[in-house]
Amino acid sequence: MYVKSRHKKSLFFLLILLSISLSGCFQWAARAKNKLPNQTALNQTYSYKGKVLIIGAGAAGLAAAKVLEQNNIDYVILEASNCFGGRLKKDSTLADFPIDMGAEWIHSHPNALNVLKGKKATAKIHEELIPYHLDSALKWDNKRLKGVKKSYLDFYYNFISESKFKRSTWYDFVKVNLAQNVDHKIIYNTNVQEINYEEDQVIVKTESGIVYNADRVLVTVSIGVLKSNHISFIPKINRKKQKAVDAITFRKGFKVALKFSKKFYPDVIQCKAKNGERTFYDIAFKKEAKTHVLGFLCVGSEVSRYSALPTEKDVIVELIRELDNMFNGQASRYYTGEYAYENWGENQFIQGTWTQAFQEKRRHLKQLNKSLEQRVYFAGEINDPYKQMGVPGAILSGYSAIHQLLTDKN
Ligand SMILES: Cc1cc2nc3c(=O)[nH]c(=O)nc-3n(C[C@H](O)[C@H](O)[C@H](O)COP(=O)(O)OP(=O)(O)OC[C@H]3O[C@@H](n4cnc5c(N)ncnc54)[C@H](O)[C@@H]3O)c2cc1C
Repeated sequence: MYVKSRHKKSLFFLLILLSISLSGCFQWAARAKNKLPNQTALNQTYSYKGKVLIIGAGAAGLAAAKVLEQNNIDYVILEASNCFGGRLKKDSTLADFPIDMGAEWIHSHPNALNVLKGKKATAKIHEELIPYHLDSALKWDNKRLKGVKKSYLDFYYNFISESKFKRSTWYDFVKVNLAQNVDHKIIYNTNVQEINYEEDQVIVKTESGIVYNADRVLVTVSIGVLKSNHISFIPKINRKKQKAVDAITFRKGFKVALKFSKKFYPDVIQCKAKNGERTFYDIAFKKEAKTHVLGFLCVGSEVSRYSALPTEKDVIVELIRELDNMFNGQASRYYTGEYAYENWGENQFIQGTWTQAFQEKRRHLKQLNKSLEQRVYFAGEINDPYKQMGVPGAILSGYSAIHQLLTDKN
């Protein structure tokens, strides 16, 4: 696309600014150009005879489990919380459409949805998608609102095409395509605290003292949980791997959905943020919904603006105050008093938001993907060899790690 030179600078800055917003979609989409695999472990057969334990029933753990289920391999999934999905969560109470309180955008090419299901990439896509092509956006510098030109939004969309589910959620996608095949093998409320891989049989201990044995273990907990040393490895993870875990950026963050009786806001309001992201966005964007729900995504050091507030209700009051400042009191006028709130940074089994593999050092990624003595393996969005990241990355990492686990020769 031809861009007049005097516009080049502002266009460049806009792209940078937008790149920090919309849940970092510029960065996410940068890797969408990477090739998707033609085949995954879902399209292969395995004759592994040992027992496998999967730790974590997020997208990565569920994907790996589906491969084991298909091949009649002995396994269970140990999940610390009382539900599957990890960083995927659906709210069906606030609006007349389901809301993703965790992952929400499809940053990958829509064909990825087919690959994640084990279908040919180019097959007809079953899900109804909304192209995330914004009509209106504003920037807030904490004093004034400034408009963003429609031509910029068009350029941005043509440069980085993203989408959202129209009538469903990422949670539904993972439930229908992965979780419902393996749900019967998940042992909930099972908080793993120790993994001992000294001997041939790996011994896994939980908080309540229950012990599980397996030939091989797949760990799919977030990098935040690994960083926290909540799980003790015996022997300790080697120095290089520990260094890699420590080096990966995994920022705290939370998401809020606020319900209004009238839409007084544009598709996106990108707030000035020092190191991180602070974005209001219309969750109902092109959903053909009657309810008006404004989302708020806060990530990184921006979280500290709100973390000093004593309760989540105080956070809501603060957000309404900020919106009132931007829109002359319209937020208070139209706020229905209903909201949904999810603090991922404060969730002890998650401890943050997402990673961006392409921003990390290759040597660290390589270390993260190495098994411990071919007995303990790792999956999760940071481990995706195709660098799709987010939910597609987590699922693809589950397929590739389980392939490695099932085919490594001792
Ligand atoms: C606010 C937010 C917005 C996001 N937006 C997007 C988006 O728009 N698009 C996108 O593609 N991605 C997005 N992501 C990222 C996406 O959600 C993740 O990349 C993906 O869900 C990670 O899946 P996972 O299986 O790797 O890890 P997780 O989902 O973290 O799953 C790990 C599982 O392990 C369990 N666990 C942890 N510790 C233990 C233990 N000790 N014992 C047993 N079990 C344990 C956890 O409870 C959890 O169920 C977003 C994430 C957040 C938080």
